[in-house]
Amino acid sequence: MRVAALLTIVLLLAGCGGSSGTPAASGGSGKLKVVATTTQLQDIAKNVLGDKVTLIGILTADADPHEYQPTADDVKNIADADIVLRSGVELEKWMDKLVANSGTRATIVDCSQGIMLRKGDAAEPVGDPHIWFNPANTKLMVHNIVTAASIKDSADAATFQTNELAYDKQLDDLDSYIKNAWATKIPNPTDRKLVANHDAFGYYIDRYGINFVGSVIPSMDTNYSPSAQDIAILEQKIKAQQVKAIFVESSLNPKLAQQIASDTGVTVVDGKLYGDTLGPAGSPGETYLKMIRYDTDLMIAGMTGQPLPTSATQPLLISPGRTTIRPYSPLPELRGGLGYNSLPELRGGKEGRDGNSN
Ligand SMILES: [Zn+2]
Repeated sequence: MRVAALLTIVLLLAGCGGSSGTPAASGGSGKLKVVATTTQLQDIAKNVLGDKVTLIGILTADADPHEYQPTADDVKNIADADIVLRSGVELEKWMDKLVANSGTRATIVDCSQGIMLRKGDAAEPVGDPHIWFNPANTKLMVHNIVTAASIKDSADAATFQTNELAYDKQLDDLDSYIKNAWATKIPNPTDRKLVANHDAFGYYIDRYGINFVGSVIPSMDTNYSPSAQDIAILEQKIKAQQVKAIFVESSLNPKLAQQIASDTGVTVVDGKLYGDTLGPAGSPGETYLKMIRYDTDLMIAGMTGQPLPTSATQPLLISPGRTTIRPYSPLPELRGGLGYNSLPELRGGKEGRDGNSN
């Protein structure tokens, strides 16, 4: 990869006159062209790369990343890109073909690199792809993005790294907000009974001690169609555990959840969790930070029968003394290829590499 990267830089320098300090970018703007797959990655990249790059998204708000159908524009954008950000862990099963068809020379960044993956299931044997549901994982995603951008655009590397530290602080605040919300509103983890729409919340469940009862679609992949037996098993669990509410997701059809709720005499929570995607601008899930906080508020409201707190639309609570500033260090394993974490010790773990689970 090092040779290929050097070659790319040499070619790009040759192509644009080689004035020192300018980003090795394609197009006429002089800015790096960065393509990001999911709405979460688009938002995170916007926060840490800012206006130093031209950012193009593939998925749109409320779209299901498991089932996306790439367009001709996607092929063209990836062909022209300097950097392509993907969430990884097979979330975007359509990406390998898209990248191959584009013939791109971009650095492909698998943003899951370095993250300790939860065990997957039959549909997701590589691991649980919903890595953004632990803010400690999101820090690593941010770091992977900043590292790749700093290599391609060294003139703006210091800005990217400053932005990373600032965003990490917000992730710490988010984590504190969530822990505090559960501890004060539903102190007993057994009472935090979650029936979700699909198995998207595993990292959140592990980190914050949620009692996961089951999902309407009992799979990490929304393409799975639940059988009559799957539904019967979930309905039994709902009755046995005296669950009060079922949650639906913004990117999924709520019909089956409504049927299960009606069969079992429980309610479908009014409001939708943001699972695989952000919501549109102006919605409570319009940014990554807001999405995770809103999900927390909505889960607590649904489980307690209380209305959503007004804080759902207010700035995040700032907690003192929780910031961890890591020195900047590019990950040596950032290969720019399509591979996933292959170290066996990184598989099947429950906590992120940061290990700050307390
Ligand atoms: Zn999903």
